[in-house]
Amino acid sequence: MTRSFDAIIALGSNMGDKIGALGRATALLEAHGEIDVLNRSNLYRTDAWGEEDQDWFVNACLGVATTLSPLELLHFCQDIENELGRVREKRWGPRVIDLDVLVYKDIAQSDAELTLPHPRITERAFVLVPLNDIAPKLVIKGKAVCAWVQEIDTSGILELDPFKTSEKAK
Ligand code: AMP
Repeated sequence: MTRSFDAIIALGSNMGDKIGALGRATALLEAHGEIDVLNRSNLYRTDAWGEEDQDWFVNACLGVATTLSPLELLHFCQDIENELGRVREKRWGPRVIDLDVLVYKDIAQSDAELTLPHPRITERAFVLVPLNDIAPKLVIKGKAVCAWVQEIDTSGILELDPFKTSEKAK
């Protein structure tokens, strides 16, 4: 089966207008002349992972077609993090937006700047659940995303109703 996307980007936010931040990041990706956003997952409210004193997150994944190289795509994602992170609440630790490149075609690489596929996809329900919306048959570490998602605890993941989502959706 031919994939419709070249790369998948995971987005997350746990500060301020979380859904708005994901929307602005998506708009900035779409505004790039060499990126087309092809598929969007649902939005999910997810419990903070690791540090439990953090606020809950909104997470999503996007499938994109792009003529950028993997590193160029990563750098553009980092530009978006900087642009959105700079404009609000910069004195706080957590970032307004986090963008990770989950996969880029069939490229497997690991260097100081970029590891592909992203090394922690299969450990994180907040990545696997939205990824399963847009790429259930994508094989990561020898197993399809739809199989990985069956094996992980998804109890902290709640799909947000797109018609009711707001910052009060707690
Ligand atoms: P984080 O702050 O957790 O988003 O991590 C960002 C750092 O991870 C940056 O220094 C990136 O160069 C590095 N990195 C390695 N692989 C990836 C990837 N696939 N997607 C995003 N960042 C990556």
